[in-house]
Amino acid sequence: MYDVLIIGAGICGAFMARDLSRYELNVALVDREDDIACGATMANSAIVHSGHDPEPGTLKARFNLEGSRMYEDICRELGVAFKRCGAFVAAASFEEESILERLYERARDRDIPAALLGREEALEREPHLSDGVRRVLDLPTTAIITPWEVAIALTEEAVSNHTDLLLEHTVTAIRREQDSFLVTVRTRDGSQKQLRSRFIVDAAGVYADQIYAMVSGYSPFSITPKKGEYYVIDREEHPLVSRVIYPVPSAKGKGVLAVPTIHGNLLIGPSSDPIEDREDVGTSSSGLSYVKEQIARTVRDIPFHKVIRNFAGLRPSGSTHDFIVEEARDVPGFFLAAAIESPGLTAAPAISRYVVEELIGSHIPLVPRREYIRRQPPVVLCQLSAEEKNALIRSNPAYGHMVCRCEQITEGEVLSAIHRPAGTRTVKGVKKRCRPGMGRCQGGFCEPLVAEILCRETSITMPELFYLPQEEGRNRL
Ligand SMILES: Cc1cc2nc3c(=O)[nH]c(=O)nc-3n(C[C@H](O)[C@H](O)[C@H](O)COP(=O)(O)OP(=O)(O)OC[C@H]3O[C@@H](n4cnc5c(N)ncnc54)[C@H](O)[C@@H]3O)c2cc1C
Repeated sequence: MYDVLIIGAGICGAFMARDLSRYELNVALVDREDDIACGATMANSAIVHSGHDPEPGTLKARFNLEGSRMYEDICRELGVAFKRCGAFVAAASFEEESILERLYERARDRDIPAALLGREEALEREPHLSDGVRRVLDLPTTAIITPWEVAIALTEEAVSNHTDLLLEHTVTAIRREQDSFLVTVRTRDGSQKQLRSRFIVDAAGVYADQIYAMVSGYSPFSITPKKGEYYVIDREEHPLVSRVIYPVPSAKGKGVLAVPTIHGNLLIGPSSDPIEDREDVGTSSSGLSYVKEQIARTVRDIPFHKVIRNFAGLRPSGSTHDFIVEEARDVPGFFLAAAIESPGLTAAPAISRYVVEELIGSHIPLVPRREYIRRQPPVVLCQLSAEEKNALIRSNPAYGHMVCRCEQITEGEVLSAIHRPAGTRTVKGVKKRCRPGMGRCQGGFCEPLVAEILCRETSITMPELFYLPQEEGRNRL
């Protein structure tokens, strides 16, 4: 019997698992995928937005602002990267300039540091702004993170503090009983299992409405996936832009951005297209052409010949046009963190705090765990000095065996990714934890080596490593 069962190990589920693990509670974090952060948390713009954009009075505005103020400390505690690179919102027409002024007022009303700059001043800081850019809104508190790194780190800490992480557990039915819920899950081998919990949190991303309908009979809201497609540009010594460049927002959302990443790449995207298929994360020539066309309005000289990858993510866009964070009115003990589209990544720590402290905390006493174990960040060899590297290699020769030449990742780092708390058993999971395959060759050289190490270190065979069971029909890469 769990006290709380969280459905969905994206950024929201991971934050809630970590926050709940501070208390003497029995918690399960359940996901249908074979790793943490495989939904929207894996494929987004990675920006901690300052909070200037959401409409006043919405949960998006409240949780965005609170979340953006919480992130830096949390990343420091977890030992994950956080970079306050700042942002410009670039107006490229007379009409856009007046919207920029309204955004400036909104930022000031919310105590967000902001300034309006003329074209010349903006060009001094970002020389690759397009010729049409007339004025910008400077938002120095905007930041970037690596979203899946944060979700994995949170889950590691939750697991170290007795949370059960149940991957490849697809929730297929939920029945409300007298004092608890009976949750039916399908596991990797197709068999069924039942879990019981006093409380449930629905953080199931694009499936949150269907999960709610399992227990309630129907869902009063619906989720439409909104696809966003991207280009990833190779790492440069002098990146084209040093901060996030937004266009002026429109009815379609924040628009197509240029985003420097923590690891020195440049992201260009996303598009914004409502689709029906909740599994469709393929890219398209029309989506990518739209991105190329739109970015030209704000940033010039983008080296599209240096693209190393395209990808797409799905925003769980809700019919209420706002986040839904509440206890379900008709199902006491069932909590929703649904329709968490952008700025959900930014809002996640604040959503979690509210769900844990206000919603769950109003039902059960939150007794702090006597011994709380903090996450120990893994070694990143390329960040060490020559002396530190030598000492580490002498004590553990696996750190002297290079696996990924593009990103300079060693066997020691791959082994750590496999054996850490919430460690992985997939090639993609290793890639998310320590980056082999993220570089220019996109895994051409290192993936076979990572696969060999995984088979050696776990009981998994090579065919099992690369293919999901037949009925899923999806390739693990
Ligand atoms: C293109 C794009 C750009 C974005 N850019 C930004 C940005 O720059 N900044 C920002 O703040 N936000 C951004 N967002 C929004 C942000 O990514 C999301 O709000 C956030 O990742 C949502 O996290 P989540 O945990 O709610 O959902 P998800 O990460 O989607 O996690 C849901 C999880 O539920 C699991 N699940 C679903 N059904 C079941 C089931 N039946 N059984 C078990 N598990 C199940 C899934 O496998 C998944 O892992 C962007 C989103 C997209 C798509």
